Amino acid sequence: MAQHGTRAQYKRCRDSPNGGPCGPCRSANNAYERERKQKRLASVPTPAAPTIGPVEQGVIDLLARFPDAVDRRPDLAASARAMARIQDSPAGAQAPNAARQMHLTLAELLKGTQRHHKLASIRRMTRHP
Ligand SMILES: [Zn+2]
Repeated sequence: MAQHGTRAQYKRCRDSPNGGPCGPCRSANNAYERERKQKRLASVPTPAAPTIGPVEQGVIDLLARFPDAVDRRPDLAASARAMARIQDSPAGAQAPNAARQMHLTLAELLKGTQRHHKLASIRRMTRHP
C-alpha cells in the first residue's frame, strides 16, 4: 500500500469523499506541477532586450515619417531595418553591402510614397473644378 501525499499515489488515490485524490495527494501533485512549471520557465531563455543601434534608429525615425509607405510595403520596411541591424552589428564585414542594399530598399519604399503623393494630389486637383 503506497503512502498518501505522494505524486505517484495521487494518480491512483480515490480517498476523497467525491472519489478523487485525498488532500495530501492533491497537495503533493500541486507541488509537483509547480516545480515542473518552474523548471519549464527556467529552461526557456529569456530573450535579451533588443538593442537598437544608430543605423536602425535612423531607419525607424525615417520610416516614422512615412507610415503610408510602411503600411503598403511592410516587407521593404522590415528588410531595411534588418539591413540596418547588420550595419549596427559587430559583423562589420558585410556592412558596405548591407548599406547599399538598405539604401536601395529605402529608395524603393519612398519612391512609392512620392508617387502616391503625386497621385493623391492629381486626384485632389481633378476633384476640384
Ligand atoms: Zn491520497
